[in-house]
Amino acid sequence: MLTVVSSPVPVPGCAAIRVRPPGDLGYWSVRDGDYELVPAADTYLRYLRYSRGRALGTTEKYAGNLAVFFDWCAVRQLGLMEAARRMDDFVLVLRNQIVTRPGRGVGQPRGNGRINHILVSVREMYKSSRAHGLVGEEAIAALFVMGQLPDLGISERRSQRFALRPRHVLRAEEQGDVNPVAREEFNALMGVTHNWRDRLLLVLMRHAGLRRGEAVLLLEEDVHFMHDSRELGCARAGAHLHVRRRTTEQGSSAKSSRDRIVPVDAVTVFCADRWHYERERIPAADGSLTVLVNVAGENMGRPVRVDQVNSIVSDLCLRARLERKVTPHMLRHAWATGLAGVAELDVVKDLLGHRHLATTARYVHPEWNKMRDAIDAAYVDTLALDDAAGADAR
Ligand SMILES: [Zn+2]
Repeated sequence: MLTVVSSPVPVPGCAAIRVRPPGDLGYWSVRDGDYELVPAADTYLRYLRYSRGRALGTTEKYAGNLAVFFDWCAVRQLGLMEAARRMDDFVLVLRNQIVTRPGRGVGQPRGNGRINHILVSVREMYKSSRAHGLVGEEAIAALFVMGQLPDLGISERRSQRFALRPRHVLRAEEQGDVNPVAREEFNALMGVTHNWRDRLLLVLMRHAGLRRGEAVLLLEEDVHFMHDSRELGCARAGAHLHVRRRTTEQGSSAKSSRDRIVPVDAVTVFCADRWHYERERIPAADGSLTVLVNVAGENMGRPVRVDQVNSIVSDLCLRARLERKVTPHMLRHAWATGLAGVAELDVVKDLLGHRHLATTARYVHPEWNKMRDAIDAAYVDTLALDDAAGADAR
């Protein structure tokens, strides 16, 4: 039996804070208005970082979400248990509050996708609090219903028939769905690039499916673009990339949980070759191990930062006068969609570096023509109309 200790109500003014023990990158936690760490949040975030090995950046995002939650608890003077019972009120506050923190969406109410993200952090924190004896079973019952999982045939854990289903989930907006970049959009972006660095960056995401964090962390030693790489100590045939899990201070490769090898096409090899010659003309780039480096400015020759990828792509969008904003992730989606049309889902899963097929399934956007063809193929032999017409005549 777990003994439940009552946790104190935090003081208003909660914020995310970086905790940095000596000799360690540390983790992000939540402090209240009195600069006291909030125990439930701190226990959970420490567990994420040190027991689950999650990236620093992940704990930062979760800590930001939990700071919003604990500030609400503080203002309403609610302990953990009482807060769980009044989660509806928290959701309402999230829906009505205008975002004041600097960043995306400032000055606007949060979207449903954003709210769901905050609620996920809160629920996971409660599960951890339950395991650590900070709340009782009633808190979990207030947040979850026990439900039976529908067997979609794609879950890797079919034996797990029962699951906790969250009670508070908002319907995600249509615009929250990622639409893969269209061929015309990609060509337009390529058409306005000024250097091979940008071309290679786009191609690494669109033709090799790299996440933006993986693209900027790609080292020259990861690029095996020769027909035969045995001289480099690699037995894989054909041009390929090694996408290795690397941890930076920002935790930018956080999502790839294991290494993978991605075969690449001629377009990727071509762009990489051209960029290689351009890169050699940047003297300061000699000291950088990464493939992608800055081509100008005070950081010339230094590695491209992960947040720069977004600004590079959005600048290209502006120059290409695209009707909608294309994000790096939409490039990866387009790659996955294209592959899904020609390869089995488990092949796509390994190429994308996913752990679960269910995640891969979310990336697969069937093209309209394929849906059209499927209907035509399925009903090619159907004589229902003749039968119906016959029945009419009788
Ligand atoms: Zn290799």
